[in-house]
Amino acid sequence: AKWVYSFGNGEAEGAAEMRNLLGGKGANLAEMSSLGLPVPPGFTITTEVCTWYYDHDKSYPDELGAQLFEAVDKVGVATGRNFGDTERPLLLSVRSGARVSMPGMMDTVLNLGLNDETVEALAKEANDRRFAYDSYRRFIQMYSDVVLGLDHHEFEEILETHKEQNELELDTDVDADGWLSIIAKYKDLVEEELGKPFPQDPREQLWGAVGAVFSSWMVPRAVTYRRLHDLPASWGTAVNVQAMVFGNMGEGSATGVAFTRNPSTGEKALYGEFLVNAQGEDVVAGIRTPQDITEKARIEAGSSNPSLEMLMPEAFAEFQSYCDRLEQHYKDMQDLEFTIEKGKLWMLQTRNGKRTAKAALKIAVDMVEEGVLSEEEAIGRVEPGALDQLLHPTIDPDAERDIVTTGLPASPGAASGAIVFTSDEAEKAKGDGRKVILVRVETSPEDIHGMHAAEGILTSRGGMTSHAAVVARGMGKPCVAGAGALRIDYRNGVINCAGRQLKEGDTITIDGATGQVLSGEVKMLQPVLSGDFGTLMSWADRGRRMKVRTNAETPQDAKVARDFGAEGIGLCRTEHMFFEGERIISVREMILAGSEDGRRAALAKLLPMQRKDFADLFEIMHGLPVTIRLLDPPLHEFLPKSDEELAEVATAMGADPELLRDRALALEEFNPMLGHRGCRLLVSYPEIAEMQARAIFEAAVLAAKETGAPVVPEIMVPLVGVKAELDLVKGRIEAMAKAVMEETGAELTYHVGTMIELPRAALRAAEIAQSAEFFSFGTNDLTQTTFGISRDDAASFLGTYQAKGILEQDPFVSLDQEGVGELISIATERGRATRPDIKLGICGEHGGDPASIDFCEGAGLEYVSCSPFRVPIARLAAAQSAL
Ligand code: PEP
Ligand code: MG
Repeated sequence: AKWVYSFGNGEAEGAAEMRNLLGGKGANLAEMSSLGLPVPPGFTITTEVCTWYYDHDKSYPDELGAQLFEAVDKVGVATGRNFGDTERPLLLSVRSGARVSMPGMMDTVLNLGLNDETVEALAKEANDRRFAYDSYRRFIQMYSDVVLGLDHHEFEEILETHKEQNELELDTDVDADGWLSIIAKYKDLVEEELGKPFPQDPREQLWGAVGAVFSSWMVPRAVTYRRLHDLPASWGTAVNVQAMVFGNMGEGSATGVAFTRNPSTGEKALYGEFLVNAQGEDVVAGIRTPQDITEKARIEAGSSNPSLEMLMPEAFAEFQSYCDRLEQHYKDMQDLEFTIEKGKLWMLQTRNGKRTAKAALKIAVDMVEEGVLSEEEAIGRVEPGALDQLLHPTIDPDAERDIVTTGLPASPGAASGAIVFTSDEAEKAKGDGRKVILVRVETSPEDIHGMHAAEGILTSRGGMTSHAAVVARGMGKPCVAGAGALRIDYRNGVINCAGRQLKEGDTITIDGATGQVLSGEVKMLQPVLSGDFGTLMSWADRGRRMKVRTNAETPQDAKVARDFGAEGIGLCRTEHMFFEGERIISVREMILAGSEDGRRAALAKLLPMQRKDFADLFEIMHGLPVTIRLLDPPLHEFLPKSDEELAEVATAMGADPELLRDRALALEEFNPMLGHRGCRLLVSYPEIAEMQARAIFEAAVLAAKETGAPVVPEIMVPLVGVKAELDLVKGRIEAMAKAVMEETGAELTYHVGTMIELPRAALRAAEIAQSAEFFSFGTNDLTQTTFGISRDDAASFLGTYQAKGILEQDPFVSLDQEGVGELISIATERGRATRPDIKLGICGEHGGDPASIDFCEGAGLEYVSCSPFRVPIARLAAAQSAL
């Protein structure tokens, strides 16, 4: 088998497409070499060797040694040198390089091949003893640290002591003999620590460095990084070995890094830094202040340090031409590393550069204008999730962060405010013009007004689909949920967290993008929706097949969603409308009523309010489809909790508070999420469905008159498991439609459908489709019931599941395509078999998740529905999955 791929001198055995085999760095080095760019000759040991290494007890394939040293010889021929030669020694750099760049792994060993003899040759050749000994001591230090595993502090101490004793300030003040004596001490240290001398044999050095790269694939930092970024351990890393070029051979030498465009603004201008007479690690280490590459950047920064453009105009011009070439070639902004050795430019790395969302948009749109990308290609260049950054205030990346704790990043954006513990307090504070963060153990629908009033929401319990998370996302409010380290003490108005205490009124900042809770106020950046955003979105809209609707019930959310391009409402959760103001009393009256008459009396009070709600929504949506879901309350959320609340309801009903207390107790459930909710409540009390249907139909008649656009309501029955449940409720809806048509003389068109939220509903979809005109996949409940994992309690253990690799992702965030997805596929197929034109959509939280949206495209759903602030993300993700 071929384990080693050579490159250099305008040729290469590898290419950019071979990233999986050669790693990102190796593939691009090969590509640059083929393009004729000056790349120090070298070779890549493939990722397959890494896999082999771990499969075979950390040993190597037999043929590797021969291939490795054959490749070393080739580099020798290309450079006119020999590995270990005492006249013209070949020196090597060794670097890791996985498919994607991965901090935490071994980075680099430079100057490999130096020993007591070759260093003398280097000194003679460079005519610079100081340079040669400096290189050797750097090599010993680096190699001892990353290959031999010795503590680098001890080496630094030797150097510091030497400087102190000789009254030197900087490393550059140490002369050749100084380095020579330090080298002797370094070697003694190694021998003392390891019981054997520092390896003098270049071959042994090379094997050691190669082994260190492969071993670094499994160091805890790398393992953690892969877990956090969903990268599989099976990928392995490659090893890149190249002839050394020296950026530290005097004033005519330099080393630097650059982006072909500004990675934070996207501006088309070379952007980067370099250091004269330095090696790569000096730029990163931040010991000396790097200089700007272009004159323009230098002037803008007001720096008096000369730019590369001024210092080395020829090398600069050559570098700039390669930047343009590589951008054109890769059709993307590049992140580059280079070294100049005595005036000669060498390219050490190129890769697609990381960038902010704003820069990503600008670069994508600019590159279409420049004719580099097609519109379709540009759509693929912006990560949908990154758009979130643009729609909400974000914490200034330069701001200091005093992190109190970290919870789940439940709803993006950042907000600062004073701590309040109740929704009433939040509302009051808002009235007084104060900014607050509502801090709760968890929230319930009763907190809607407080959540509206607060700048952001922080909870100590609950997952990504907890009430707080769902509602906050809907409102576009920042939310950190499930911050389990917070001990919230409502009674004393304090929060204890890992030895710190925060009091009511203290200012905190929450970062819904990272889940961080920060002490004090932190500087924010406000969102700007630039022209590029609109341009890219219009291309996305042309490219996608699926429609994008929104989950909204308030006029404000509906308007926001329309502005973000929503094409209708996919889910109006009517129970969220029952908590507004005084309504809750009527709702409680209805629930606690002892008879149908009592319930009807309470419902009669709610009817006009619901009618108005729906009419508003229909008007805002102006002819676009609106799906209204009938009441789906986990009952416990509605029951009065305090004596005060009980008394309120009792007065409204003219009933005995004690009697009501007994009824409330009787209604309590062990598992409310699996209890008397959804259509089960409508089966028990069909008069609820009747009232809601009446409100919907009357509102449709009103709104049609008002707007002149026909209104075709879609009425959705929640939590159906059995067709007969749907039939019972549907019967009431149809009767009500007839009644309203007779009363008003208007013609009504409407559709009745169901949510698919239970495995049984998915399995029996053929039958259910006989009655349902549409299915909307409620993947929050479907995930909960498929896994048998409570969506409200999952946060406490799902983290462990991810840490242990049992689940790669939180299934409440990104759809479990294998399990829950199979149920969706089954329901889709069976539903269509019965009713070929059945309308299919998704309205669980997954409707705003790009990976889940991709699944929906594959399943052939007609639309996805998501919270208003995710609508742009869904539009882009839908386009990407369609193209
Ligand atoms: C769902 O279950 O996916 C859904 C949309 O309904 P809810 O989140 O209101 O239970
Ligand atoms: Mg549900």
